[in-house]
Amino acid sequence: MTLERPERPAYDVVIVGGAIMGSAAAWFLTDLGFNGTILVIERDTSFANCATAHSTSCIRQQFSTALNVRISQFGADFIESMPDRMGTQDVPQLAIRNFGYLYLADSEGFAQELRQRQRIQTAEGAATRLLAPAEIAAEYPFYALGDIVLGSINTDREGYFDSMAVFDALRRQAQKRGAVYIQNEVVGMAAQAGRVESVTLASGEVIGCGAVVNATGPRAAQTAAMAGIAVPVEPRKRCSWIFRAETPLPRDLPLTIDPSGLHVRENGGGTYQAGGHFGDDRVEGYDDFAMDHGLWENEVWPRLARRIPQFEAIRLTHSWCGHYEMNVVDHNAILGPHPDIGNFLFMNGFSGHGLQQAPAMGRGVAEWQCYGGYQTLDLSAFHFDRLAGAAAPAEAAVI
Ligand SMILES: Cc1cc2nc3c(=O)[nH]c(=O)nc-3n(C[C@H](O)[C@H](O)[C@H](O)COP(=O)(O)OP(=O)(O)OC[C@H]3O[C@@H](n4cnc5c(N)ncnc54)[C@H](O)[C@@H]3O)c2cc1C
Repeated sequence: MTLERPERPAYDVVIVGGAIMGSAAAWFLTDLGFNGTILVIERDTSFANCATAHSTSCIRQQFSTALNVRISQFGADFIESMPDRMGTQDVPQLAIRNFGYLYLADSEGFAQELRQRQRIQTAEGAATRLLAPAEIAAEYPFYALGDIVLGSINTDREGYFDSMAVFDALRRQAQKRGAVYIQNEVVGMAAQAGRVESVTLASGEVIGCGAVVNATGPRAAQTAAMAGIAVPVEPRKRCSWIFRAETPLPRDLPLTIDPSGLHVRENGGGTYQAGGHFGDDRVEGYDDFAMDHGLWENEVWPRLARRIPQFEAIRLTHSWCGHYEMNVVDHNAILGPHPDIGNFLFMNGFSGHGLQQAPAMGRGVAEWQCYGGYQTLDLSAFHFDRLAGAAAPAEAAVI
């Protein structure tokens, strides 16, 4: 049940934003036996415009840092074992549709980068394979590969998953275990002496907090500014198109990462999902979801037909525009406490790969809150203070 008003004047943890990240934090807090009160505040419980609802819904192990590989491996474990982990048959048993991501390199420089990434991934146990163009053609005869020098693919726990089912399970089970969800908007915070004392709601109430978690996706900077914090996360437009092929491909289409900036994947039943950005991806404010309808005709379709000639004959069925929460410094998560305002916790900056990271990030924030440190995966490389230094663990595999 979602309430309009909080039932108490103060909560031990106040989570701002109730989509996949906020719900992951809430559920993992309950799972670790946190014995305090949890309030999740969500401004739009239809979730119509959150990043969680606008995604490509895929998971991969093909990252450029070992930590991000491990985070997705935990994500895959979690996705495939929700009834066991949550101790209930009231959540679905999901499977990842393992068509894999196929990165295509059209230059020796990018091929070198893929080789380097494959070494990092396989050292972590990922099943990434490098394919010469002839090998790609043998497995996937539908690509035009004249310009391609190398491909990289992993079909083990990499592909589509039902991210809305994961989100729904986290949210409903967090609520069942006592986390309180309200529909309201946080519009201010009172911070003094190095801590956030309270949050102010659009309806006027002031709620005291032991800790506050910023899980507001593309609005992360707006929320952090309420506590006087500048966080380098910006909303960036990412469009998606669903189309039907006159002649469907003979096998599942991997999520193909084309060097032209386009990506396209299997969507089932002779339909496919394409995405990407072409040119300026900045938004005119947080509510700018306007679609540039010329993109399909001028940018997307030509690229599709060039890479997969069978996609000359396709029909667009629908499209939408969503926002990435882009960490414009190093394209990686910003997690954990602010160095000076220690009870302000970040869950931000996932730069287009947050769905698969939600289980690890939720667990990490909960561990920090319960134990003051990480017990499983050490996520301190994502702390805010690294952003000022030169040694940020930049993620290069951003789609
Ligand atoms: C086109 C697209 C494709 C993507 N594809 C993938 C993919 O294939 N795999 C993957 O892992 N990730 C993908 N992502 C990224 C992923 O969707 C996000 O990283 C993830 O959903 C972020 O979750 P979140 O909960 O942090 O943010 P959101 O889902 O945006 O949720 C933030 C919530 O905070 C609420 N909120 C904001 N401000 C306030 C406030 N002041 N008070 C109260 N509530 C507030 C909002 O209403 C919203 O519901 C994709 C994203 C897009 C846009």
